[in-house]
Amino acid sequence: MPPIIKSDDATQSLLEGIPFPHTDILGVADQLEPEESKRLHALHEFLQTKIRPEVGEYWDREEFPFHLLPELAKYGLGEIAVSGTSRLYRGLAYAEVTRADVSLSALVGIHNELIVALIDALASDAQREKWLDGLRSFEKIGCFALTEPEHGSDIAGGLATTAEKTADGWVINGTKRWIGGGTFADFAICFARDTADNEVKGFIVEMGREGVSAEKISRKMGLRIMQNADITFDSVLIPHENIIPGAQSFANTNDYLCSSRAWVAWQGAGLQLGIFDMAREYAVSREQFGRPIAKFQLVQEALTRILGNATVSLSMMAQVAHLQEAGKLEMPHAALAKATTTRLARESAAAGRNIGGGNGILTDYDLSKMMSDAEIIYTYEGTYEINSLIVGRAITGVSAFV
Ligand SMILES: Cc1cc2nc3c(=O)[nH]c(=O)nc-3n(C[C@H](O)[C@H](O)[C@H](O)COP(=O)(O)OP(=O)(O)OC[C@H]3O[C@@H](n4cnc5c(N)ncnc54)[C@H](O)[C@@H]3O)c2cc1C
Repeated sequence: MPPIIKSDDATQSLLEGIPFPHTDILGVADQLEPEESKRLHALHEFLQTKIRPEVGEYWDREEFPFHLLPELAKYGLGEIAVSGTSRLYRGLAYAEVTRADVSLSALVGIHNELIVALIDALASDAQREKWLDGLRSFEKIGCFALTEPEHGSDIAGGLATTAEKTADGWVINGTKRWIGGGTFADFAICFARDTADNEVKGFIVEMGREGVSAEKISRKMGLRIMQNADITFDSVLIPHENIIPGAQSFANTNDYLCSSRAWVAWQGAGLQLGIFDMAREYAVSREQFGRPIAKFQLVQEALTRILGNATVSLSMMAQVAHLQEAGKLEMPHAALAKATTTRLARESAAAGRNIGGGNGILTDYDLSKMMSDAEIIYTYEGTYEINSLIVGRAITGVSAFV
């Protein structure tokens, strides 16, 4: 176990000589094989030195740093879901991206868990051939279009977008809301209800098709780099072969929602690593009453709380990764993990922001940015309440949904 504090002489000892990954005091990452451990170190260095210092400006301006995509691809982040790494590496890599920036980790997570993995497993050979290579290198981007303006938490039963099979192809009609990457994606995996059998099916809809329009949702309080969009499908005609053969009912898609819920739970863990990094750095360098604020007992309690929350989250996620590896992760596990790490992330974010005092409300110090982003991961991929109800149903045998 790496030492956290080498001596009680505050300012320097807290920052110096602390081995990577600093915050992982119970050594979750030590379970990686040496090759993956090396890869994770390299990824961490790249994200902390190249990505983190650059993204704050983009976050302020609500813009996406497209020039970083090829860089992320170099570290395998375009294909992590299909490149045969261990589940633990995959999760820790998501956590490391989140530690540097939550929006970019949202892009990487949606891309891998909901686009690449889904196409790899459920698409036709022709669809895989058409899209997978470009996706792996981030030259192609897909977006996952499930939520609608009138249906968020109740989307499984309420989905209103329709797909009608005609002699010329499928005709898609409906609107989607909050779709990440919707303004720049090459295609959407659009979920629509087949008017013939009422089943929710998945369709690949190229964003350039006639009748597709996407409008950026601006003035978000968090995840500001990610471009979320309202997408309208107005009598969009797509070829018959654009239906995804393995996505013939909502149940088919549920496996991917389980994996993506686990990915967001990793975001909860990774965000807390970032919060701890920033809060500790600030505490040892900011002086009040003639000494670093890290010397004050209440500040140490706050740092301990953040570290405790981060450690609980990481340890929980390591076990989630082991279950995934064994093919035993079920929706209630993923829902419990997502609800728990994002709840703790919110508490950690508030504590970290407070350590920053007045400076803690400025994006420049990252703490306010992380606090705002914590709100988003608490809400998307099933809100805290909805994930609690999924767990509640599993542990009581009684559904509270209806
Ligand atoms: C930044 C961002 C990015 C997103 N990205 C995507 C994306 O890429 N693709 C996509 O398809 N979707 C995306 N979403 C949508 C996201 O999954 C939904 O916002 C989420 O499922 C909640 O739906 P809603 O916003 O309609 O809230 P609502 O369902 O209207 O919920 C409002 C409130 O009511 C509570 N509530 C609802 N039902 C119950 C109940 N039965 N019991 C107790 N409380 C309840 C909720 O917990 C919440 O607090 C994104 C959302 C955001 C904010």
